Amino acid sequence: MIFFPPMNQANHLHLLNSIFGHKSFRGLQERIVLHLHKGEDCLVLMPTSAGKSLCYQIPALMRDGVGIIISPLIALMKDQVDNLNEMGIKARALNSSLPFNEVLEVQRELREGKLDLLYVAPEKLANSSFFSLLKTLNIALFAIDEAHCISEWGHDFRPSYLQLGVLKDEFPEVPMIALTATADKQTRKEILDKLKIPEKNLFLSSFDRPNISYEIVEKKRPKEQLLSFLRENKGESGIIYCMSRKKVEDLALWLSEKGLKALPYHAGLDEGLRARNQNTFIKEEEVIMVATVAFGMGIDKPNVRFVAHMDLPKSLEAYYQETGRAGRDGLPSKAWMTYGLDSVVYLKKLMENSDADHGRKLVEKKKCDQLISYCESFQCRRQRLLEYFDEPFKGPCKNCDNCWTTQESVDATLWSKMALSAVFRTGESFGVHHLVSLLRGETNEKVRQFNHQNLSVFGIGKMNSSHVWKSLFRKLIAENYLSVDSEGFGALSISPKGALILKENEKVFLKIKDASKKGQTAIGSDPHKKEVDFKDDFQKKLFDDLRAFRLKLSKERGVAPYHIFIDKTLMEMADKKPQSMKDLRNLHGVGNFKLRRYGKLFVDFLSDSARLQ
Ligand code: ZN
Repeated sequence: MIFFPPMNQANHLHLLNSIFGHKSFRGLQERIVLHLHKGEDCLVLMPTSAGKSLCYQIPALMRDGVGIIISPLIALMKDQVDNLNEMGIKARALNSSLPFNEVLEVQRELREGKLDLLYVAPEKLANSSFFSLLKTLNIALFAIDEAHCISEWGHDFRPSYLQLGVLKDEFPEVPMIALTATADKQTRKEILDKLKIPEKNLFLSSFDRPNISYEIVEKKRPKEQLLSFLRENKGESGIIYCMSRKKVEDLALWLSEKGLKALPYHAGLDEGLRARNQNTFIKEEEVIMVATVAFGMGIDKPNVRFVAHMDLPKSLEAYYQETGRAGRDGLPSKAWMTYGLDSVVYLKKLMENSDADHGRKLVEKKKCDQLISYCESFQCRRQRLLEYFDEPFKGPCKNCDNCWTTQESVDATLWSKMALSAVFRTGESFGVHHLVSLLRGETNEKVRQFNHQNLSVFGIGKMNSSHVWKSLFRKLIAENYLSVDSEGFGALSISPKGALILKENEKVFLKIKDASKKGQTAIGSDPHKKEVDFKDDFQKKLFDDLRAFRLKLSKERGVAPYHIFIDKTLMEMADKKPQSMKDLRNLHGVGNFKLRRYGKLFVDFLSDSARLQ
C-alpha cells in the first residue's frame, strides 16, 4: 500500500511531487484530477506525451479504493505496472497471460484492499465471475484508456470496448474517465454516447506535438532514402512502418546487413520471437523496430526518436497516432515518410475494391482523400494535421518539410490537358508508366506493340522530365481528376471532375519543390536545429555515460531503462551534475521512492565522473 500521509484534496500536489518527481501539473491535468476527485465523469483528449496517465493515477490514489484501468494491450499493462512499481505504487495487472496462482494472488490482494491500481483488458469485464468480484470491491474510479477503440468507424475498433457502456449502469457512483490521444469529432461523439459521459465533461487539449518534426519525401529509391535518414539519426531508437509482413521481414534483414540493429515485428511472426523482439526494443537502446501497424499501441518507450513510414498509413488519424509514438519524453523527434505514385494508386485501388457497405465506403473514401491531400499539400504540415482535428494553428511551424523548403507553383493546366488526352486517346486502358513514356515520345516495345507512336499525343510532353509527369499524374489521381481501375492493373480513366479540365478549362496548379534551394529554407529554419541540444561535448559525453550506466543497471534489475529514469532526467543530471541526494531530488522525474532506490547509485556515478574529468 502507498506509504504517504492520509489523502485530502490539497495533497494532489504533494503526490505529484513525492511520487512522480514533478514540480507542477501541465495543461489540463490539474483540472482533470480535481474533477475526478470530486466523483465526476469525463472524456480526456490529450496527445501522447501530455501526461494522460497522471490524470487518473493521482485521483485513484487520492480516493478510497482501487482504481480500475481498462487497457487494450497486455504489453502496455505490464509496462505501466512495472513503471508504477518502480515508483512505489501498488499496481497489478489481471490478464490472460498470468499464471493461475498469480490470478488468485491478485484477487486476494483486491479483496483485502491492498491495491492502488489494477490494469485489466476490456474482455475481462465480460467475465461474470470477475464482474461479481468487482461488485464487492471499493472502487476509486474507472479509467478507460485508448477510448477510441470503442469507435466502430475507427481503425482500432475493439468489439469488447462496446460492453464498457454497462459500467455506468452497474457502478453509478464510481467516477469514470475515458482517455484517448486521437479522436476526430465523430469518434469523440461516439465515445461520449457509448460511455454515457455528458458532453460538457469533455477536456480537450491541444493536439500539437511541437517536439515532433514532420517530413514527407518523394519516393525515389525508398530503401536508400531510408538508410540516409537513419544515418542522420545514428544511435537512436525508432520505429519503421511497412504495409506488409513480407516488406517488414525484407527491410529488417536488409538493414541488419547494413549493420543496423533492426528487428522485425508483425502479427504473423512466431509469438516467442515477437515477444523477444518487442522486449529488446523496450529494454535496449539504439534498436530499430521494423513493423506493421500491429506494433506500437501500448509501447510506452519515451525515447523513440523517430517514426518512419515506408508506406502510407490508413488515414490521417492513424498517421497522427503512429507518428505520435515518437518523442513521448518531449525531446526533439522526427516523423518521416516516403510517398509516391505507387502509394496513391495502391490506396485508391484498395478503396475501390473494399467490400464495405455504401455508408462505410464513403467514410473510408473521405479518410483516404484527406490523407492524400495532406501528403500533396505544400502548406505547413502541422497546420494541416491540426486542422484535421478542428484545431486552429497559426503556422508556419518552422518544424516541417514544407516550412523548410522553397516551393515553386506552376500553372499545369496545359500539361494536365495533355495528360488527360493521352489517357483518352489510348482508350483509358493504360497505367502511368506507359502514359509517361508516350507523352515523352519514347519508342519502347509496349509503345510499338500498340502502335502508339502514331497517336497525336505521342511526344507532345518532351519538355518535362518523367519525374514531373509522374508528379502531375499523382496529383491528378490524388485529386480525383483521374480514376484508377478496380481490377488491379492500374489503368487510368477520366473522372467527371477530370472532364472539367478538358471542357471547362478548370485550372490546375502543380507545386514543384525546388530541390536546388534546399537548405536555404523559405520560411523555416534548418531541420537539424531540432536535435537534442547539449551545451558542449563534455555534457553530451556525460549523458551517453549516464545512459550506458542506466542500461547496465536496468539489465541487472530486469526493468526497462526508462523505468529507472527517463532521458530528460539524465539530461538534467548531465547539465546540473547533482552531488547530493537533495540536489538529485530536485530534478524532473525523481520522486521519493526512486531517490531511495537509485539516488545513491547515480550520485556516486556522477562524483566518479567529476573526478575523472
Ligand atoms: Zn510547418
